[in-house]
Amino acid sequence: MTERFTGSFTQQEPIPEEGIAAAIEVLKSGRLHRYNLVGDDPGEVALLEQEFAAMVGAKYCLSVASGGYALACSLRATGVKPGDRVLTNAFTLAPVPGAIASVGAVPVFVGVTEGLVIDLDDLAAKADSADVLMLSHMRGHLCDMDRLMEICDAAGVTVIEDCAHTMGAAWNGVPSGRHGFVGCYSCQTYKHVNSGEGGLLVTDDEEVAARAIMLSGSYMLYGRHLAAPGPEVFERIKYDTPNVSGRMDHLRAAILRPQLRDLETQVARWNDRYRTVEAGLRDTPGLTIVERPEAERYVGSSIQFLLLDWSEAAIDEVVKRCAARGVELKWFGGAEPVGFTSRYDSWRYAPSERMPDSDRVLRSILDMRLPLTFSVEDCELIARIIRAEVGAVFQGG
Ligand SMILES: *Cc1c(COP(=O)(O)O)cnc(C)c1O
Repeated sequence: MTERFTGSFTQQEPIPEEGIAAAIEVLKSGRLHRYNLVGDDPGEVALLEQEFAAMVGAKYCLSVASGGYALACSLRATGVKPGDRVLTNAFTLAPVPGAIASVGAVPVFVGVTEGLVIDLDDLAAKADSADVLMLSHMRGHLCDMDRLMEICDAAGVTVIEDCAHTMGAAWNGVPSGRHGFVGCYSCQTYKHVNSGEGGLLVTDDEEVAARAIMLSGSYMLYGRHLAAPGPEVFERIKYDTPNVSGRMDHLRAAILRPQLRDLETQVARWNDRYRTVEAGLRDTPGLTIVERPEAERYVGSSIQFLLLDWSEAAIDEVVKRCAARGVELKWFGGAEPVGFTSRYDSWRYAPSERMPDSDRVLRSILDMRLPLTFSVEDCELIARIIRAEVGAVFQGG
């Protein structure tokens, strides 16, 4: 009998009961706007910011409307101007170059290695051509952050981290988002905490924090923040920082706070699933496992493997055969952007030189989500299916 998987790759777990109860309280109050507060109640949003700042050891935190908003807001707050060049990963998701383009700046793509991280040699070669790097820890892969910071510090490049897939991850014990000047996170449904939409931004820089808060639309109510600098910092910047509204509301903060408290447990559950699939795929002929460095603490909410130097037709065949057995693989190397996948050359508003070594890697990446609604047994089955179908196409080819 041919085994088939019947689970859904887009089904997340329900919001924790505690979050539902807190959300109902917010709904009953009618006060959803973050600055709609009574008495000395700090409100769910300010508490979320305080708790997240403490969790990652940051001085300041701001919650916003989306991960993409956090990225664009960080660029504005650090002073990126129209026409400025901003370095970023060739292997990333559309909202990253999109955030750069949204402030009128120009993305300059840096290559990707077989480890699916930014190519640090390429970064070193391009570091003098820009003042800012928007570093995307795409699909949760952390590069050697110590070396990256050395390169950027030496070249005077400010690092803004896109931690959409690394909330809960760390490099050598330092939480992801805390090496750079600003760290940005997403609370969108397919990330590590789920409020539908939402984002968080952390920094230790008082002026960037104050600017970000003004930018997000604080209507001079910054005094109600808990993870924010003092009023004297806002006095310096409040007259020349525009309002680009993108706040978070109490409803979303209410459902996020219990999820943050559970994050450690969830990370362990994701990694059980990740390691199960990884073990099931290891030593499959023709398939390359992306090895995780010792210094990296990752969150296995998705898994990638490479079919290096396979023909497009053969990769397409694997994707189709797995799909027929219920296993949804995404091919990042496809020429046309489909769903969440896209290649740096599909962002035609940001033309770039071809990077042959990166193209070889990008063409070979297959990606699969691992929602926590999958059991470890599900993951064993999924790995058996992929292994069999990769094997069948590899031998046939
Ligand atoms: C999801 C995602 C974002 C943006 O998050 P949104 O909350 O959807 O705006 C940024 N970068 C990467 C790599 C992502 O996957």
